[in-house]
Amino acid sequence: MKAPKVPFLDLTRQDRELREELGRSFSSLLERGRYILGPEVEALEAEMAAFCGTAHGVGVASGTDALVLALRGLGIEEGDEVILPALTAPPTAVAVSLAGAVPVFADVDPRTLTLDPSSAEERITPRTRCLLPVHLFGRPADLHALSKLAEQHGLLLVEDCAQSHGATLDGKSTGSFGAAGCFSFYPTKNLGAYGDGGMVVTSSGDLARELRCLRDYGRVERDLLAKVGPNSRLDELQAAFLRLKLRRLPEWNRRRRELARRYLEAFADLPLGLPECREGEEHVYHIFAVTCDRRDELRRHLQGEGVETAIHYPLPVHLQPPFRDCPGPPCPVAEEASRRVLSLPLYPHLTREEQERVIEAVRAFFRAS
Ligand SMILES: *Cc1c(COP(=O)(O)O)cnc(C)c1O
Repeated sequence: MKAPKVPFLDLTRQDRELREELGRSFSSLLERGRYILGPEVEALEAEMAAFCGTAHGVGVASGTDALVLALRGLGIEEGDEVILPALTAPPTAVAVSLAGAVPVFADVDPRTLTLDPSSAEERITPRTRCLLPVHLFGRPADLHALSKLAEQHGLLLVEDCAQSHGATLDGKSTGSFGAAGCFSFYPTKNLGAYGDGGMVVTSSGDLARELRCLRDYGRVERDLLAKVGPNSRLDELQAAFLRLKLRRLPEWNRRRRELARRYLEAFADLPLGLPECREGEEHVYHIFAVTCDRRDELRRHLQGEGVETAIHYPLPVHLQPPFRDCPGPPCPVAEEASRRVLSLPLYPHLTREEQERVIEAVRAFFRAS
């Protein structure tokens, strides 16, 4: 009999661990009868802010909204330029456009695959207002260099933390370096809801106030509008469930790092690019991506061995149809990376046996050739 597939991600295992607590939480919610922006949302906001080392958290409807509202709340206007990496999930760029700004794509560093500060610097024009690094795959971007660059040029720094819940650089949490840190609670993220959700963390009381207004039609009071905003509220059910998971996140991230360490060891002698970290970079391995010259062949081989993989991302965002005409020179490192990256199964509930099967299948590919 053939061994069962090693799934790229299986969220049901996480849910099984939590089933009883989720049930109790759901029951008490039904008794309370409060469903949008209530005590659970407020508690989650305070807990996320504490987790990130910021003064405030503001719950919103998605990670994309967290970015859009943070940019709007910081005063980004029509025609302002925002510099972001070409290798990221498409919503990073979509959010810039939805905020009315112009996305300007910079290249990524070949070692870390995060925004390359020197490429970002080359893209700065008199219309640049903001740097928007992404902590891609759970690895903190080069925040020291980017903070300095932002300061030198009087730019805002906004962090896309959709993949980096819990990642730190020199002991400081991602999301706490810039004016705002934008999180997604999409179910597959390291901290995922049972639907959509997101949050902006910030240490600015003014920005937090502005975001609370913006996410709720632009209201300042129950019956008084200050401006026009979307409905981007977080609900009590998601917040209550997320609070249960936030308590487990440090342990789940620790398990991710342990699995990553095993992969790094097992692949050290293979012709693969590995996500190794420098001292002080605390990666949370939302995605474990390797780079390989024969990526497509390796992927087919693993598929044949029952190992599911994924590609993050097959098309750099600056080459996506809506962004092809954006200003800026090409991004060769991001383009090359999109042809070479391959994501292997890694999540807290992946078993040792499954991981050994992945390792054996990868090693067999290189033995055969
Ligand atoms: C998931 C993700 C987003 C968008 O989050 P949603 O909650 O799906 O809107 C933005 N940026 C990055 C890097 C992401 O991975």
